Amino acid sequence: MAEQSLDTLVARVVDTGNCSGCGTCALIDRGLEMRLSADGFMRPVRERPGTAPAGAARRFATACPGMTVRGQHHDGIPYHPVLGPVAGAWEASATDPEIRRRGSSGGVLTALSAWLVESGEVAQVVGAARAQDEPRRTVPVRIVSRAEALGSAGSRYAPVAVCAQEGSSDPAGATVGKPCEISALRALADHDGTTAPLLMSFFCAGTPSQHATQDLLTELGVPAAEPLSDLWYRGRGWPGRFTARTEQGRQADTSYDESWGAALGPTVQWRCKICPDGLGESSDLTAGDFWRSDERGYPLFTESDGFSALVARTERGLDVVQRAVAAGVLTVRPITADDVVAVQPSQRRRRRTLLGRLTGARAAGARIPRYSRFGLLPLGAHHARESLRTARGTFRRVRARRTPRP
Ligand SMILES: Cc1cc2nc3c(=O)[nH]c(=O)nc-3n(C[C@H](O)[C@H](O)[C@H](O)COP(=O)(O)OP(=O)(O)OC[C@H]3O[C@@H](n4cnc5c(N)ncnc54)[C@H](O)[C@@H]3O)c2cc1C
Ligand code: SF4
Repeated sequence: MAEQSLDTLVARVVDTGNCSGCGTCALIDRGLEMRLSADGFMRPVRERPGTAPAGAARRFATACPGMTVRGQHHDGIPYHPVLGPVAGAWEASATDPEIRRRGSSGGVLTALSAWLVESGEVAQVVGAARAQDEPRRTVPVRIVSRAEALGSAGSRYAPVAVCAQEGSSDPAGATVGKPCEISALRALADHDGTTAPLLMSFFCAGTPSQHATQDLLTELGVPAAEPLSDLWYRGRGWPGRFTARTEQGRQADTSYDESWGAALGPTVQWRCKICPDGLGESSDLTAGDFWRSDERGYPLFTESDGFSALVARTERGLDVVQRAVAAGVLTVRPITADDVVAVQPSQRRRRRTLLGRLTGARAAGARIPRYSRFGLLPLGAHHARESLRTARGTFRRVRARRTPRP
């Protein structure tokens, strides 16, 4: 069978709603640009003739998370059925109080980024930060100093295509990205037979639409035309508040529960709802919130000093964490994989019900990406009744979406 062109494959991923907006296709072919779509997500658009050499379509088909994602298993490293590979797990925070405060939870990814670039261990860290000219927007950035790392601290619940940034696949660098971005970079390096950058990720419940940011601002009394001097989604406390500052010096803010929970989270794109990897399995190390929880295991969002759950996935990740602790960059307390999963009830549920969601979507005629080595079958079978209920619900929702209204 003749090889399909890169553009044909990209169009199919976008048209089927399986694009995560990671930007890997734009890294493979510089004639593609990542642009905001009408519904507020990053999508590839052909701006110039293709720049990719022969074999680009094959590289894309191996790496694009809208086509395929492979779970990672490493010799000698235990694989947890929900958390994935675990070479080590800790409750962790940045030792530097300013970094800890600015970070989403414990400021761990920022502390590591600052240390890695300042010590010269990596040439740069690629990550994400607010756009300088429009704080409502989020852009990929290249970090080469502590100050730049601090500028990218804190989660931004909005679309950004980190892989499209120059340097995101540089073996001499490090990249912080969403699990889909990190799995794409890992797959690309495996396909090319090159060394991946140091890959750092975080637990991810999905990318909300860019429109949700302005809708929330409008609710808070900040119109679209009002220039902002800053906007952050959380951090500067744990979990911190969604906060916008206008150029006039006015501040509008709301709680994490009201922003992520009520306004942003409900708008995540379809691909994120069928993601097999909310926990960053392809990374060398992953950070998430190490929430304090109530007696039923539900996270409490009372403000306090932040703690991250930090999981080393590979020997390389383990080595980086151990050296960062020895250098006084991170303060850690060992925990187990089960301790991490216990405070992430929604990630636990997502993983358990994914087989049902995929089955329901397929039965309703949706085209879904190929996932392998995530152990979804035994996990789904173990929770058969929940899987069946989820499959029925997804089938109904997908069919309703696909059936044209009269
Ligand atoms: C869209 C999204 C969904 C998330 N969902 C969950 C969840 O379900 N459960 C959970 O425990 N944690 C979730 N997090 C992660 C959590 O908010 C923290 O990032 C994590 O606890 C690590 O905290 P930290 O203080 O170590 O990171 P920080 O030191 O604050 O560093 C944050 C890093 O993330 C990068 N970054 C920020 N926004 C983005 C973005 N949109 N895309 C790519 N990179 C970005 C920055 O470059 C920075 O390096 C989510 C984050 C995002 C962006
Ligand atoms: S998922 Fe990533 S690589 Fe695939 S089409 Fe979308 S942006 Fe491109």
